[in-house]
Amino acid sequence: MGAPGLQAVAAPFDAERVKREFPILARPVHGKPLVYLDNAATAQKPRAVIERLARYYEEENANVHRGVHLLSERATAAYEGARARVARFLGARDPREVIFVRGTTEAINLVAQTFGRARVGPGDEVLITGMEHHSNIVPWQMLCREKGATLRIVPVSDAGDIDLADLERLLGPRTRLLAIAHVSNALGTVNPVKEAVARAHAVGVPVLVDGAQGAPHLPVDVGDLGCDFYAFSGHKVYGPTGIGALWGRLELLEEMPPWQGGGDMILSVSFERTVYNRVPYKFEAGTPDMAGAAGLATALDWMAGLGPEALLAHERDLAGYAAEQLAAVPGARLVGTPRERAGVVSFVLKDVHPHDIGTILDREGVAIRTGHHCAQPLMSRFGLAATARASFAVYNTRADVDALVRGLEKVRRMLG
Ligand code: PMP
Repeated sequence: MGAPGLQAVAAPFDAERVKREFPILARPVHGKPLVYLDNAATAQKPRAVIERLARYYEEENANVHRGVHLLSERATAAYEGARARVARFLGARDPREVIFVRGTTEAINLVAQTFGRARVGPGDEVLITGMEHHSNIVPWQMLCREKGATLRIVPVSDAGDIDLADLERLLGPRTRLLAIAHVSNALGTVNPVKEAVARAHAVGVPVLVDGAQGAPHLPVDVGDLGCDFYAFSGHKVYGPTGIGALWGRLELLEEMPPWQGGGDMILSVSFERTVYNRVPYKFEAGTPDMAGAAGLATALDWMAGLGPEALLAHERDLAGYAAEQLAAVPGARLVGTPRERAGVVSFVLKDVHPHDIGTILDREGVAIRTGHHCAQPLMSRFGLAATARASFAVYNTRADVDALVRGLEKVRRMLG
C-alpha cells in the first residue's frame, strides 16, 4: 500500500522490456539488429501468444461444438472464451455479436455479401472514403456492380483528412451503407468515426468501420462509436494470422441471411429444407480456427496488461517523433499531415524511388513498407504511385526512429 495521500503513479512505459517479449525481434537481419517498422502490415507476436498456440495443440485440440468428449469440451471452452474476450475488447454487449473470420477482409466481404446483398438494390448507393484500403473498396465495388448500385466517395484533403460536411452532403436518400476506416493504413489519419456515425444515423444509414488499424492503436468501444459493424484482424493486434473478428449489432445480424453454407451454420438439414443456426454460428460455416481464436484472446489479454492509456501515450509519442524527425530529413516530404495520427507515417524522398529506400534500409536491418499500401486510389489522389511507410507498435522506441533516419541519410548519400 502507498503512503496515505499519495496517488499511485503508473510506471513509465518500458518499450525495451516489452521488446524482449518478442523472440523474433532479437534475431539479426543482414547481421544488424532488427528495427521492425512494418507493423501496419502485420505485428510481431509476443512469447505469450506463441506459447498459447502450442498449448492449445498440446493440451486442448479437438473439433468444437461437436463432441461430448473432454477435449472437444476444452476446445469449445477455449473458442467460446475467446469470443467473450473479443466482445470485451470491443465493448460489445453480447458475445453473440462477435463472428470469427479470417481477418478484416473476410469480415467486410461477409457484410457485403449478406447485409449488402439483402439491402442494396439498383440505383442505391454505398458510401466510402477516398482513403480506404482495397479491402474496403473492392467488396463494395463488386456488390454495386452486381446490383446496379453506385459507389460514392468522400474526398480526402491535401492533409489526408475527410471533411464531415462532404460526408453529410454525400449521404443521400439512396445511401444504404457508409463504410469507413477507423485509421488509414497509408496515412495514419484517425477518422472522426463517432461524428461520421452520428451524421449517417441521422439519415438512417448504417455504418461499417474498418478497424484493421484502429484496433491495434486506439481504445475501441463499439457502443461509444455507435457503429453497426466493426471489423479487425488478429495479426495486427499481436495475435496469430488467420483469425479476426466481425462485430455486428445483434438485430442486424439476426436479420441478415447466412453467407457460406456448411457444417455448424445449420440446425437441421434435409434435401428439401435447411434450418439455419442462430447468430453467431449462422455465419461460421465449417471448422473454425480454434487455436487462432485462443491465441487472439491471449494477445488481447497481453495488450490489456500493458495498460491502454500507456500504450496510447507511447505510440502517440512515437508517431509524433517520427513525423517530426522525418520532416527534417533533407528532401523528405510527409504524405499526409492529418489532424490526428495513429501508428503510421508515410513519406517520399525527392528523386528516390520508394522501393530503393526500402531495399537500402533493409540492408541496415530497418524493415519498412514501400508501395501503394493497398490504397491505390489514395495514392492517385496524391499523384503518387508509391510511398515509403514506417508504422509503429508497442515495442518500438525513439531509437528505432533514429535508426530509420540514419538509414535515410545513407539512402541520400547513395542515391540522392
Ligand atoms: N483495412 C485496413 C485499413 C488495413 O490496413 C488492412 C491490412 N493492411 C486491411 C483492411 C486488411 O486486413 P487483412 O489483410 O488482415 O484482412
